[in-house]
Amino acid sequence: MRKRETIVQEEHAGHDLLVVGSANADLVIGVERRPAPGETVLGSDLAVHPGGKGGNQAVAAARLGARTALLARVGDDAHGRLLLDAQRAAGTDTSGVLAGGAPTGVALITVDPSGDNSIVVSPGANARLTPADVRAAAPLVAGARVVSTMLEIPLETVAELVRTLPPEGRLVLNPSPPAPLPAEVLAACDPLVVNEHEARFILGEAAGEAPGEWARGLLALGPRSVVVTLGADGALVAEAGAPEGVRVPSLKVEAVDTTGAGDAFTAALAWRLGLGESLAEAARYAVRVGAAAVTRPGAQASYPTAEEVGAS
Ligand code: ATP
Repeated sequence: MRKRETIVQEEHAGHDLLVVGSANADLVIGVERRPAPGETVLGSDLAVHPGGKGGNQAVAAARLGARTALLARVGDDAHGRLLLDAQRAAGTDTSGVLAGGAPTGVALITVDPSGDNSIVVSPGANARLTPADVRAAAPLVAGARVVSTMLEIPLETVAELVRTLPPEGRLVLNPSPPAPLPAEVLAACDPLVVNEHEARFILGEAAGEAPGEWARGLLALGPRSVVVTLGADGALVAEAGAPEGVRVPSLKVEAVDTTGAGDAFTAALAWRLGLGESLAEAARYAVRVGAAAVTRPGAQASYPTAEEVGAS
């Protein structure tokens, strides 16, 4: 496998994976209880972590050894520099990261003793990643084996990305946070990667109860393929020609913190698809990356190297 990756990389001059997406600073404070309206409570020391679904995916892929680029927007501020440093430390090409226009996106997170989160997100610069930014990055888009994106950036920017993809390009979309998707975006997904919540949102009343039903229902909306992630139960993959789907079991691990596991899964899946693996093969690798990510605390801090995932 390693040999094949080396050969494939030598043949391809661009990136294995381009992530077009969000980058946030996660500001986390532990609290005994949340303040009532008008009240002030004291919390723990502030912890600042690099996050955002785009940033997470790029770090996950780069740490696995994928030649990864990130197209994103951060503020010209300390949080933006922190996020860029985290990407560079992982090995991401950050030449596509634009700075300025608004403060860096921030997630204000309070965590209570039971581990429950309350989160306020200020999208900041993520909301200013425009269709024009995507058009200006067309060479980066064209040079990538696979492009992965999500909905923490404007939907019109995702739609422009679909139009900018060359005919041989491949798009992986995780529709999170879920929103109604135009037909042209759905038709470009190969695959659409959803968890249960996102599947139910998109399918609405007609969702049904079983992952196989969700996959069939989603395929009927137009994507070339669908992956449903199922937490500790792994994933289900389905393609237009084989809508009944294939179950890919997870590894049995002791989960410490599942934050960002979905982003690690999606990044690994996208990278392996770009190397030429089938959807089921890529998902078998991705569940191992997702399983490794849940055994350690944090999001980006929990992501494994290829050596830690092991030979496939
Ligand atoms: P998150 O929003 O927490 O990042 P998600 O809801 O998008 O995650 P999940 O289905 O929870 O996505 O997890 C993604 C993948 O990570 C799963 O398909 C699985 O491979 C792996 N995973 C998640 N939780 C576990 C677990 N407890 N044990 C093993 N693998 C897990």
